[in-house]
Amino acid sequence: MYASVAQLSHPYRRQPMFDYDLLVVGSANADLVICVERRPGAGETVLGSDLALHPGGKGANQAVAAARLGARTALLARVGDDAHGRLLLDSQRAAGVDTAGVLVGGAPTGVALITVDPSGDNSIVVSPGANGRLTPDDIRAAPAAALLTASRVVSAQLEIPLETVTEVVRGLRPGARFVLNPSPPRELPPDVLAACDPLIVNEHEARVLLGADVGGTAVGGTPEEWAGALLALGPRSVVVTLGEDGALVADASGTARVPAVKVNAVDTTGAGDAFTAALAWRLGAGESLADSAAYAARVGAVAVTRQGAQASFPTADEVAAG
Ligand code: ADP
Repeated sequence: MYASVAQLSHPYRRQPMFDYDLLVVGSANADLVICVERRPGAGETVLGSDLALHPGGKGANQAVAAARLGARTALLARVGDDAHGRLLLDSQRAAGVDTAGVLVGGAPTGVALITVDPSGDNSIVVSPGANGRLTPDDIRAAPAAALLTASRVVSAQLEIPLETVTEVVRGLRPGARFVLNPSPPRELPPDVLAACDPLIVNEHEARVLLGADVGGTAVGGTPEEWAGALLALGPRSVVVTLGEDGALVADASGTARVPAVKVNAVDTTGAGDAFTAALAWRLGAGESLADSAAYAARVGAVAVTRQGAQASFPTADEVAAG
């Protein structure tokens, strides 16, 4: 039997053993959602729907998305010693995420207060709570340090302190891969940028990292040009997500477009988190950046056909069927 071309182009490489395919370091929030006829102005009170309570936060979302796909996943986060914290721990465990790295206490669980009007526009107030208390010391201590050395890919976002993300980068095991979605976006230190493989941004995040005014005009040029400018900041690779237009991947070898999967989108909440988790998992499995992004686009496409964030994330079988 001859080896296929695919096998020849992906020669066996000896890889260190890792207990986890993906360690997500990030936020866990309780999302408190009320639908209203009209969002209130200053000093105004409006009546709304019954309260809906959902587990959320970019870190918690990414961990659930990866575990549901079948990745061996752990979450490193901080929640309060309260009912919202228990809700978040329960949703992680239900998805199969290892929660040994979820620290409890120090502040109330992070909360997002969300009002949504009939057009789908929302207003959100976030109380970071315990997310803001996930410190560099927490990263150096057990169990975080043990999780960091046991994980093939480590993924982070910016809903926790930046100095904590910097400490994560310092604690990476040689051979481990670091994936960053800089959301909410802010200027990044060179050592964090240099570790990103890839840096994953949407258009808004690209705009802020490239120094354009927040809410101002779009960065000039094409997504290919943004990717080039982002690469010049130091990451090893860049992915720009483009919503219903798919994504773009770029590294030293060039750029490639990843087409979106055509679907009837009903709720795009959490699409970026599902995309990032799927991409990180496939990269860890040894797939190329372009192939990983193509798989992630299929995962994101299924997620937008369903309501909610964590509730919308598919299993690998659902991705294959979708
Ligand atoms: P974010 O939620 O961070 O802004 P995007 O909206 O770019 O991220 O979505 C992430 C990915 O999910 C996209 O790159 C795309 O692959 C997929 N996706 C998002 N919206 C749609 C859509 N309407 N149709 C198909 N795929 C989508």
